[in-house]
Amino acid sequence: MDRIDGRTSDQLRPVAFELGIAPYAGGSVLVAMGKTRVICGATIEENVPRWMKEQAITGGWLTAEYSMLPYSTQTRKPRDIAKGRIDGRSVEIQRLIGRSLRAVVDLEKLGPRTVWVDCDVLQADGGTRTAAITGASLAVAIACRKLVKEKKLDTPPVQKLVAAVSAGVLDGNTIVDLNYEEDKAVAVDFNLVATEDGDFVEVQSSGEESTFSNGQLDEMLALGRKGIAELIAAQRAVLARLMVTPPPS
Ligand code: UDP
Repeated sequence: MDRIDGRTSDQLRPVAFELGIAPYAGGSVLVAMGKTRVICGATIEENVPRWMKEQAITGGWLTAEYSMLPYSTQTRKPRDIAKGRIDGRSVEIQRLIGRSLRAVVDLEKLGPRTVWVDCDVLQADGGTRTAAITGASLAVAIACRKLVKEKKLDTPPVQKLVAAVSAGVLDGNTIVDLNYEEDKAVAVDFNLVATEDGDFVEVQSSGEESTFSNGQLDEMLALGRKGIAELIAAQRAVLARLMVTPPPS
């Protein structure tokens, strides 16, 4: 089946990572999956949230924020601050990003620090939450390496890379990495987050005014896993290049 943009059902959009675009962050990445582009910044603060101190919890914390820049959507989306409240979708997405990254960071090893992950959508064409996770994984890995370089830690607390991709069922066909046009049309919406070992961090699958079969769920899982393996290979290539040439600072 040919898709709206000519891709095959198992084909990701072109993936690109631009490093060091926000030099004051500990690690920053502009991730692109086709037309979807998200700025991911990781900043490490030498402090932990008050609730951790109050409950005498050792180690560090990682938290995420997500927002869409007003001009990232086809019709301008007002900033949350202009509306006086953060919208439910953003809350849902930033919690997903936080959970995904915490699954691969050794918070004990991080020590009494907070990793702030800030994801700002520059251009939205479907899959912004998944692109944010894939980009943030690299930004956090880079920021944590810097801690080692600065001799604040012996080894980086990032245990694994994590990546995410969407999938769905469109006209009975299972497809991966949906663009906005596809996202609007699908009967099933699926988001997968997994580590470089292929272990799952989160599997979200919901029928949009419809149901899906066991077979379709298996197909979406298989497409998602294949896509994530490709994304992790792309992340690894970026990190390997970084060993040779450091990012601009
Ligand atoms: N979208 C939009 N305005 C919004 C929310 C979403 O234009 O306020 C578009 C955008 O292209 C986004 C897509 O709808 O990527 C799908 O949104 P969804 O909530 O499924 O999240 P995403 O797929 O981006 O993770």
